[in-house]
Amino acid sequence: MIRHHPDDALMLAHAAGTLGAGHRLLLDVHLEGCAHCRERLQRLDALGGVLLDQLAPAELAPDALERTLARIDAPQPQAAALAQGAKPQLPTAWPRAMAGCNVSRWRWMGPGMYWNRVTLPDADDANVFMLRIGAGRMLPQHTHSNSELTQVLYGAFDDGRSAFAEGDFDETDAAIRHQPVVNTGGECICLASVEGKVLFEGWLARTMGAMIGM
Ligand SMILES: [Zn+2]
Repeated sequence: MIRHHPDDALMLAHAAGTLGAGHRLLLDVHLEGCAHCRERLQRLDALGGVLLDQLAPAELAPDALERTLARIDAPQPQAAALAQGAKPQLPTAWPRAMAGCNVSRWRWMGPGMYWNRVTLPDADDANVFMLRIGAGRMLPQHTHSNSELTQVLYGAFDDGRSAFAEGDFDETDAAIRHQPVVNTGGECICLASVEGKVLFEGWLARTMGAMIGM
């Protein structure tokens, strides 16, 4: 069961189309797996529609429909690299919302820790990546200069504030300093979008931060 959802401010920004591409992707991935939030978004869209009706009409870009249809038809990126040599219950495909994204191979980040780069179509500046952390492993203590969104794709972790499992969503900012610890039952894979910087503490942590270009 999903226990952590995007807050109303994020959902409204998503409905209004004002989120950056990376954060928009994270919301789309969460919505794909969360019926509760799809319902919330419908209500917000209906509300937005009422507000829009009171504004002067604006024209859509001429290729808007074509682009939307192309996104829907795009093939799902395969998680082939992930499945190799991994336990069978690991995901075999990334969420459909990631169709069109390029997912790099897993790169070593530290003992039992891997990351990959997710490149979005038409948004090279978006800072989106996945972390794959082994059972019982702990990320270095860190905070964030701006906003970081996390969606749990597989497994579970606890960062001292709360427990997060598959399908859960988290938003952290400069006010939150945390140290996620993966459950001992199995590894954890998260999708993350960062605006600003992730600020690790300690020399090892800073080295890791430099390695993953954050
Ligand atoms: Zn939700």
